[in-house]
Amino acid sequence: RKMNKPFPFAFTLGAIVIVVLYYLFGGTEEPTQENIVKEEISSPIESSPSIGLIDDERIINAESEPGNWIAHGRTYEEQRFSPLTKINKESVSDLGLAWYKDMGTNRALEATPIVVDGIMFFTSTWSRVYAVEAKTGKTIWKFDPEVPGEWARKACCDIVNRGVAVYEGKVFFASLDGRLFSLNAETGEKIWEVDTITDRSRAYTITGAPRVAKGKVFIGNGGAEYGVRGYVTAYDTETGEQVWRFFTVPGDPSLGFEDPAMEMAAKTWKGTNWWEFGGGGTVWNSIVYDPDFNVVYLGVGNGSPWTREIRSPGGGDNLFLASIVAVDADTGKYKWHYQTTPEDNWDYTAVQDMALADMEIDGEKKKVLLQAPKNGFFYVIDRKVSHQTGKAKLLRAHPFAAVTWATHVDLETQRPVENPEVDYSENGSFVLPGPLGAHNWQAMSVDLDAGLVYIPAQENAFFYAVEENYKKTGIFKRNPGRWNMGIEMSSLAQNVLSNLESMPEPGGFLKAFDPLTGETKWSVPIPHYWNGGVLGTAGGLVFQGDALGMFSAYDKETGERLWEFNTYTSMLAPPISFEIDGEQYVSILTGSGGGDLFGGEPLPPIEIQASLTYNNFGRLLVFKLGGQKELPIPDVRDKTIPEQVLADVSNDQIRNGESNYNQYCAVCHGFVVKSAGGLPDLRKMTKGTHDLFNKIVLEGILGSNGMAGFADVLSEDDVNNIHHYVKARAHEDREVSLGNMEAPQFTWYGVED
Ligand code: CA
Repeated sequence: RKMNKPFPFAFTLGAIVIVVLYYLFGGTEEPTQENIVKEEISSPIESSPSIGLIDDERIINAESEPGNWIAHGRTYEEQRFSPLTKINKESVSDLGLAWYKDMGTNRALEATPIVVDGIMFFTSTWSRVYAVEAKTGKTIWKFDPEVPGEWARKACCDIVNRGVAVYEGKVFFASLDGRLFSLNAETGEKIWEVDTITDRSRAYTITGAPRVAKGKVFIGNGGAEYGVRGYVTAYDTETGEQVWRFFTVPGDPSLGFEDPAMEMAAKTWKGTNWWEFGGGGTVWNSIVYDPDFNVVYLGVGNGSPWTREIRSPGGGDNLFLASIVAVDADTGKYKWHYQTTPEDNWDYTAVQDMALADMEIDGEKKKVLLQAPKNGFFYVIDRKVSHQTGKAKLLRAHPFAAVTWATHVDLETQRPVENPEVDYSENGSFVLPGPLGAHNWQAMSVDLDAGLVYIPAQENAFFYAVEENYKKTGIFKRNPGRWNMGIEMSSLAQNVLSNLESMPEPGGFLKAFDPLTGETKWSVPIPHYWNGGVLGTAGGLVFQGDALGMFSAYDKETGERLWEFNTYTSMLAPPISFEIDGEQYVSILTGSGGGDLFGGEPLPPIEIQASLTYNNFGRLLVFKLGGQKELPIPDVRDKTIPEQVLADVSNDQIRNGESNYNQYCAVCHGFVVKSAGGLPDLRKMTKGTHDLFNKIVLEGILGSNGMAGFADVLSEDDVNNIHHYVKARAHEDREVSLGNMEAPQFTWYGVED
């Protein structure tokens, strides 16, 4: 038995990409900070913004107005590289806080703001939208779509939102519960709202930013872990009417196919009822419009369930999972696709930000698409040849981080070559990358002058094993109330503990990577894997906020850290830069979580995130040269675990509680009951909350806060056992903290059977 070894939660479970509820247990000692800030809102008449009209022409010519951040990735190419130079290697030491805005949340903030003509538009938790004066932070208007709290249970990765689109005098955004909105950009008043969800009995959510072009607004969704069928819809920006819809995976063939692409895709799925699981393939992050060819590229997500032998027994590539799909911008008609991970078996989404560029490759100027998806290979695709031939033309696919699932990508076949040594179909295995990916949605930045891409990369293995129950019975039953991964979750802790020797060491890296040669020019190691998006600038700098709470500027030539600012909060959101009245600004949203809610209290060598020390205080920070504003230091979190009242229960009951906790609760409240910071840590529940435990979990008395009831999927016995398990874990961690135990045992605490 190896139970005395420290247990490295963060990396194993950091991996799992997770759900979120909200406010579980209002009575705990760690109240969430949602809504504690009283907004000072100026009257719209007084300070109505006056932004010029944004249309296709203006976004296409975004380079002519470098002071604005006019679209999600700054331009349609989405390179996220600012041409501004006033903040540069020489002047950056003078960079200071100009202003900040408390967002009144301790959940993750992920948005890329849009800044245009002095106004900043961005989103916060619960899909709330803000318009503020970019120079001062003064709120001009805010809009709350009033997402029902219960919907949080359907969200895999927190109540987050990645931003808005601004176009033709309107602000477009989508809410967690799947509605798309058009707001008046000047007043924040709603113009129209549409429900984008085809089947409300399934757990669809939206966290991504819409994109706009040619009078249409494009939006996808998420939910693959719960069992949904992915699609993207284009709506008329004026009326909200649907223009086209493209499904990314086929539905029930007996109902007929929506289009020839689905008929083609269906041939790559096997088995008798794969469509019942939903299939997955959600487009939850990247949608890029290409004015050169009038197409929209869709970054398509993972399979549902994850394990291919359950999802599509008998094999098949399972199109269009883990693919980049090009569709006609006007009609949504399929043009071509590139599948990064055929037969996805690991949650390897290809939803990560895509960038378009003109690059000289093999002696020729080429129009390329660049993507660093979860699977660890950096893809360079020839857009022009792909468009002309209707078949993807892959130019490069070098690994940008440690990869064990495949040995390489064969440029002849354009397919990855899988590594049989980490095949987990029989025996579980650690695989790199894990489900958080070698790169996730945290944006990269493309520096065409240097021929480099700055990537927030990570190495964070996960122990993949096929679900034990399925292995025993051969039956996989979709449970609409939880994740349906086909992965063994009940015994995850035990599996990890028994295989610690083979676990690769985790870490985060900011990398300057050459996508053509596969060389890493420089790499900055960061002692936690889950870090923020990246911004490169013509001032010679690369900005990134990290898990340790440092917002830093690195020399883009060497990776040397030239400037840092302690925000005391872990960051995920990408920085942006803009200019107003001749002054350059850099801004970032703070607050971590998202897919890594399993990252609670990691043990060495992983460092504790700032948010676990200082409470994940969500803020918008804006910096300028000579900025003098002081940022208040948040209180250090009280980590005391109260004494537990343990009941006289059996090991079996606790084991059952652990299994259900891992299936239903861990995705939000943290693996082994250690919260990653955003949600209440159940080890610290007060007596009052303990007394209400069953009412909260079964009846959903905190539903409007985000903690929906689970009576549809859990029995009273189940909930009692979960409660026993939570108390047992809390007791053990308390004993360790008091020095009565050397290290947690993660084994049973009940009466011996
Ligand atoms: Ca996923």
